[in-house]
Formats: sequence, structure tokens, C-alpha cells
Amino acid sequence: MNHKEDYHVHCNYNDHSAPDLTVKNVVRQAETVGLQTLAFTEHVRKTSDWISSYLKDVESVDSSLRIIAGFEAKILRDGSIDCPDKYVSEHFVVASFHTVYNDKDIWLQALKQAIQNPDVNVIGHIAPEPSFTLDDDEVQSLASLITANEKVVELNAKYHRPPAEWIKVFKKNGVRFHLGSDAHSLQEVGNFEKISDLIAIVDELAPQSPVTNRT
Ligand SMILES: [Zn+2]
Ligand SMILES: [Zn+2]
Repeated sequence: MNHKEDYHVHCNYNDHSAPDLTVKNVVRQAETVGLQTLAFTEHVRKTSDWISSYLKDVESVDSSLRIIAGFEAKILRDGSIDCPDKYVSEHFVVASFHTVYNDKDIWLQALKQAIQNPDVNVIGHIAPEPSFTLDDDEVQSLASLITANEKVVELNAKYHRPPAEWIKVFKKNGVRFHLGSDAHSLQEVGNFEKISDLIAIVDELAPQSPVTNRT
């Protein structure tokens, strides 16, 4: 996993980020902290009216970094994602839960739909809701669905997710990971200190080697 890639950064097109979080400032900050890849994943809704100026802003910024213009889209109750159709297929999409459904079946069904959605690239800050847990078999079957659909699971610094136990199961089942700061302020861009423990699991969990009897 490349620690110099941040695949989840916000800017000031959403309604709750710091005003100095302009596209240019974020890029300068990413350069300062030595990132190689920076993905803008602004919060989007089907009704967002700023998308074309946001994309122009991101796509015209001058930098030696690899810059990706993308979106973070909510996973809705029916498993669809809250992003206008015309943008999803050509842009990087992180799909995340931003609503608590208080219902494990609805949550699982919606998540499975999102994982199977060809327009989704990444499952963002995934974790069970407070009212339920998943057993190992359920996490394992999610892992299989994620790998079969070639999705990436994000290690999210803002929410310290996914749970460590899930990461271990995902890792054993061949799931790919990348890092997302989920920055809503400049200091958070490329900053993964809060998830060093989760990163260690991904980087250091060696494959189980068979026991050998050497005498
Ligand atoms: Zn989010
Ligand atoms: Zn986010």
C-alpha cells in the first residue's frame, strides 16, 4: 500500500469544509507533505449544481502530482448511489454510508448493491452501525464480493475504519486497500497518523505459512 497516495480529500465545494480548503490550497498542501497521488472526492448528491465547475477546477490545476477528480457518493437505502448518472462512469467514485439505517438487512443489501455497482471504485469508511455486528462468515462473504467485483476498501483516517478485525479478514481474502484521509481541513491532507495501527495490519500481516517439521 502506497502511503503517499490520498484517495479521499474534500474541498470547499461542499457546505461544511474550511473556507481555505480550495482546490489549489489542497494541491499545494499535498505537494508540501510529499504526496504522489491526490484524489478529490467531494460530497455529491444527485441535485448538486456545482459539479461542472468543481471538475473544471480540479482538472485545470497545475501540479506534478497525479490528481484525480472524483466524488464521494452516499449509499442510499435501496443500494443506489447519490450521484448524477452522467458523471459516475467517467469519474472516480467512493461509495460510503452517511445515513444510519438501524437495520442490518437493509444495510447489508445496500452495501452489496454498492459493491456490485460497476460505477463504484471504492467502499469508503466501512464499519457496522452501532446497533449490529457482522460475524466472521458475513465479513468473509463481503470480502469475496469485494474481490469478485474488484473494489478497493479504504482505510479512513477521519473515522478510523474499517474495524481491525474486518481488515484482517479482508486482507486474508485478497481485498485491496488504499488510504483516505477524508480531509475536511488542510492539515488533514495526506495525514494518516491516526490510522497507523490499521496501516500496520495491512502492511505487516504476513500470509500464514504452513507448519513444517524440520529436524
Ligand atoms: Zn464520508
Ligand atoms: Zn469524505
